Amino acid sequence: MKKTILTGDRPTGPLHIGHLFGSLQNRVKMQDEYETYIMVADVQALTDNYHNPEKVRQNVFEVVLDNLAVGVDPKKATILIQSMIPEIAELTVFFSNLVTITRLERNPTVKQEIAQKADVFKGGVTYGFLGYPISQAADILVFLADTVPVGEDQLPVIEQAREIVKKFNAIYGEVFPAPQGVVSAFPRLKGLDGSAKMSKSLNNAIYISDEPAVIEKKVMKALTDTKKIRKDDPGDPDVCVVYNYHKIFSKAQEPEIRSGCQKGKLGCVDCKKCLAKNIIDYLAPIQEKRNYYKNNMDEVKKIVLDGTNKARAKAKETMKLVKEHMKIDYFKE
Ligand code: ATP
Ligand code: MG
Repeated sequence: MKKTILTGDRPTGPLHIGHLFGSLQNRVKMQDEYETYIMVADVQALTDNYHNPEKVRQNVFEVVLDNLAVGVDPKKATILIQSMIPEIAELTVFFSNLVTITRLERNPTVKQEIAQKADVFKGGVTYGFLGYPISQAADILVFLADTVPVGEDQLPVIEQAREIVKKFNAIYGEVFPAPQGVVSAFPRLKGLDGSAKMSKSLNNAIYISDEPAVIEKKVMKALTDTKKIRKDDPGDPDVCVVYNYHKIFSKAQEPEIRSGCQKGKLGCVDCKKCLAKNIIDYLAPIQEKRNYYKNNMDEVKKIVLDGTNKARAKAKETMKLVKEHMKIDYFKE
């Protein structure tokens, strides 16, 4: 039987180069062989943006455009909007009986995100945000997905989904597969500011849709080895964010860049100019495709509506099975 992928993105901003190398390329590669569902996770985005619904709304189609631009093929993959599949919310409720509050509080990803979002949660952490791993388990399992291409930050959340599956299947009988996270060769791209993760919410990202001038400006401001002050000071590429990106975008020039930096022959300005050009060149065909779709929004909307309808049919099937196993199918003929 064909294996099934569920993956997706939160509509909290357009997608960035961390997404591109962390998860988008994997889903494009895998869509030929797997039954693939790609979710715009608007319900999850609202867990920490409940006060900003306009932001979530604005980014739903941005995220879809990014997926189409990088090569997600609507003939192969099903693109859907989370809030339009109410069965996910229903499954979340059933799953929440199987997870303790302490287990949620121990999830390292949730813990770190709460710390980063101190402004949102200054009055206390909400039930909805603390519980997002449960709702993410429902996202995956309502499609009976066994494979989840993600960035490294999401692995603890998938681990929680596996625990839910184990418990559910033990109590109610085998319904769900244990989902497996799949990370890429670049599972956690650093932010422009040197922080551990490029992230839409941290304002440290180069977006797939950024104009060349914007990319150049962002790269010129990126953090480098802080000990390399003058052009001819020797630098340490391994602590430099710019070098980190060269590894992806400047494969052919990388050895030369590395030794030039270490020997104090290559200054940061030239190094950054080279990177900016390579990123701009890399993104050019992707942006061209993005513009095509942006100018044909009727086509994009149809892709999303068809995808969501197809996904909902699958979710309904799963919920029928779930209710049978949970013995709440009272009016079954
Ligand atoms: P937010 O800050 O709103 O959470 P985000 O940048 O973390 O946004 P998500 O939509 O949460 O993006 O994540 C979508 C997918 O991309 C997930 O699988 C996530 O693990 C992956 N991802 C996010 N950031 C990175 C990164 N810097 N490097 C690699 N993968 C990433
Ligand atoms: Mg995230």
